[in-house]
Amino acid sequence: MNSTEPARGGKANLRDWTLRVVAGRDVEPNMRRVTFTCDDITEFSYQPGQAIVFFLTLPNGETGRRHYTIRSFHRSAGTFDVDFFKHGSSPATNWARLAQPGDAIVARGPRGKTTFDPAADWHLMTGDETCIPAFAHILETMPEGARAFVFLETSGPEGEIAIETKANAEIRWLHRNGAAAGPSDLMFKSVEAFELPAGNGRALIIGETSNVRRQRHALIARGMSREQVSSEGYWRPDRVGGHDHVDD
Ligand SMILES: Cc1cc2nc3c(=O)[nH]c(=O)nc-3n(C[C@H](O)[C@H](O)[C@H](O)COP(=O)(O)OP(=O)(O)OC[C@H]3O[C@@H](n4cnc5c(N)ncnc54)[C@H](O)[C@@H]3O)c2cc1C
Repeated sequence: MNSTEPARGGKANLRDWTLRVVAGRDVEPNMRRVTFTCDDITEFSYQPGQAIVFFLTLPNGETGRRHYTIRSFHRSAGTFDVDFFKHGSSPATNWARLAQPGDAIVARGPRGKTTFDPAADWHLMTGDETCIPAFAHILETMPEGARAFVFLETSGPEGEIAIETKANAEIRWLHRNGAAAGPSDLMFKSVEAFELPAGNGRALIIGETSNVRRQRHALIARGMSREQVSSEGYWRPDRVGGHDHVDD
């Protein structure tokens, strides 16, 4: 991975990219990986953890916006990957399932504050399947020795992936045992049981909006400052596309 250095977070560098599909395949049963390229790929710079917003043509002919994380970047090949969690039959998942080499789609970005903070002594990262691309990419590019405590929620063991990292990372997988993703106590209880290490910590809390909000509030109640907890709702039941700011 060779990202150049855009500003951390915020909406710097937002522009539109006309992407072409290079390939698509399942990396695990519920995750579809689509590889993209574009003519101006050498100008594409981002921070691991950042996302782009796809402009999808919906069944009714309107345009829908869907956020997806850059999963990995292959600078020498001039391509990057995006992993789509197949949570059901929906515009983005259906688009990814059917994507064929040569298909074109416009995306805007990159954007987002879910990125590695080199000033932090330790990093707590929590999220569900939609967050695996962000955390896997951050972990794969974290410097040697950085301390990370990672909680990832999946339906079951089949949703786990191998993550290579030089960081000093503890990765714990939480299984819903087949239950649907959504508001639950699963991640909240794990974060409550997590003993905050000494030093300047940074929490990246993403996933289903109500789960994210509960964790944020609990971490702040335990002494983390609002600035130490970056949180964003990636989806929630019945919301279509978009994202939720969770900064209260
Ligand atoms: C910054 C950011 C980065 C993201 N990165 C990724 C990523 O890399 N990979 C990824 O898979 N997702 C990612 N997401 C989440 C993704 O954008 C949403 O899940 C989005 O709603 C999917 O669009 P859709 O067309 O499949 O479903 P929509 O048309 O948006 O929604 C249809 C229905 O499905 C429900 N739904 C949406 N997502 C889920 C879900 N995960 N589980 C269960 N039900 C759901 C909705 O509540 C709604 O009822 C990201 C979100 C944000 C904000």
